[in-house]
Amino acid sequence: SIRTRFAPSPTGYLHIGGVRTALFSWAVAKKNQGQFVLRIEDTDLERSTPESVQAILDGMNWVAMGYDEGPFYQTQRFDRYKELIAQLIAEDKAYYCYTTKAELDAQRAQAEEAKTHFAYDRKWRPEAGKTLPAAPEGVPPVVRFKMPIDGVTSWVDAVKGEISFDNKELDDLIIARADGTPTYNFCVVVDDLDMGMSHIIRGDDHVNNTPKQINILKALTDQMPVYGHLPMILNPNGQKMSKRRDAVSVVDYDRQGILPEALLNYLARLGWAHGDDEFFTMEQFVEWFDLKDVSPSASRFDHEKLLWLNAQHIKAKTNEQLAALVQPRLQVRDIDQESAPDLAEILELVKERAQDLNTLADECVYFYRKSTPTDEETKKHWDEEAPARMRRFASELEGLTDWTAEAIHDLFKPFCEKEGIKMGKLGMPLRLAVCGTSKTPSIDAVLALLGRTEVLKRLHEA
Ligand code: GLU
Repeated sequence: SIRTRFAPSPTGYLHIGGVRTALFSWAVAKKNQGQFVLRIEDTDLERSTPESVQAILDGMNWVAMGYDEGPFYQTQRFDRYKELIAQLIAEDKAYYCYTTKAELDAQRAQAEEAKTHFAYDRKWRPEAGKTLPAAPEGVPPVVRFKMPIDGVTSWVDAVKGEISFDNKELDDLIIARADGTPTYNFCVVVDDLDMGMSHIIRGDDHVNNTPKQINILKALTDQMPVYGHLPMILNPNGQKMSKRRDAVSVVDYDRQGILPEALLNYLARLGWAHGDDEFFTMEQFVEWFDLKDVSPSASRFDHEKLLWLNAQHIKAKTNEQLAALVQPRLQVRDIDQESAPDLAEILELVKERAQDLNTLADECVYFYRKSTPTDEETKKHWDEEAPARMRRFASELEGLTDWTAEAIHDLFKPFCEKEGIKMGKLGMPLRLAVCGTSKTPSIDAVLALLGRTEVLKRLHEA
C-alpha cells in the first residue's frame, strides 16, 4: 500500500518549504487511498524544543493537512534503533571503531595540508583475512556502517530521474556515537522501514543522504521505497528563503491574512502545474497530482500571485465562513461587534475587493465606527460647500419612507440635478461624512446596511 510521510525537525517553526513537501507527500498518499504519517525528527536534542514541536503541530492544524498516523517522535524510539545497531554488528554489517575524534581531526588536518581528500581510513573495519588491532582500553567506540567499497549506488528519483553516486564517495558512516546514541541518517532509515514507507518525498537538500540511507536500508530489508526529491523554493531574488529576509513560517502567512487554502493552492503551483489551472481546491489537486509532473528545478516565490489566489479563495467562501475568519481580526481592532449590522451582510458588500483577511477586516471597520479620512482625501473631496450640501442631502434621506439601497439610489440623480453637480461631488463627501473613508463599495448599499439612525447621526455629526 502507498504510505508517505512528512518528517520535520523541530528546530524553529513550520517552514513553508516544509509545508510544500508535506503537501506533495500527502497528495501522493491521498490520491492512492494510502496513509500519510507525521514523524517528528527530534533526535538533535540541542536544537529541538517543545515549542517548535508545538509550532509544527499547530501549523499542520492550520493548513488542515490531516495525518493518518502520528505524530511519532524519534526520541521515543531509541531502544529500537539500538536493537538494530546490535543486529547489524552481529551480522557483520557494522562494526566498532576506536579511532577517536581527536585522531580523526589530526588526520583531517594532515589531509588538508597535503591537499588530499580526507576519509576515514577504515582501520577498524573487519575484512576476511585482516587482523584488527587490539581494542584500546578506556576508549568508548563508535559504531560504523560497512558501506560498499566499489561500484555505485543509484536510484530512479521520482522527480529528478536517475541519480547515481560512486560508492568510493561514501564513508563508513557512524551510526552510533561513542555515548551509544544513534545518528540522524540511521534513525531516518529505521523509521522509514518500520513505518512501512513506500515513498520518501523530501527536499533536495537530502539528495546526498540518500545513497547512505539506501545502503543502510539494503542491510535491513530488500524492499526499497521510491525516492522523490523536491526542488527548493527561492525568494523572488532567487536566493534561499531566510527568516531574516522572507516570510518563511506559516504563522507569518496567517498574520498577513492569507487563507490556508490559498497558501496550499499557491504552494502546489510552485514547481507543479495542471494545464492553465491556477485556482483549485485540494480535492482537485489530489486528483490531478503526480510526482512525475513536478519540475526538477527550483521555483521562485511570487507574493503577488499568492495574493491573487488569496482573493479568489476569499470570494469562494460563504459570508458566514468569512465572518468566522474576520471576527478575531475585528477583535484585534478593538471593534465592539454588538454595535453594527450583521458581519455576514457587511462581508457580502466588501469581500469583492479584499486580497487578504486584514484588508477585509479594515473594510468592515467603518460599519462599526467612523474612520478618520486622510488629509489627502479631505483635501480632495471635502470642499467648503460640503457641509451644507450634506445637510441638504440628510433632509432628503430623512424623508425616505423606504430605507433600501434602491430607494437611496433613486435620490441621487434628482439631488445632483437640483444642485447642479456631478455624482462624484455627492458620493465622495457622503462617503467621508458617513464612513470616514472614500474607499467604500456602492455608497447606497453601504447606507442601506448601516441603517437610518446611524447614517443620520453620522451625517449630522459631520
Ligand atoms: N528531518 C528532515 C528535515 O526536516 C527531513 C528528513 C526526511 O524527510 O527524510 O529536513
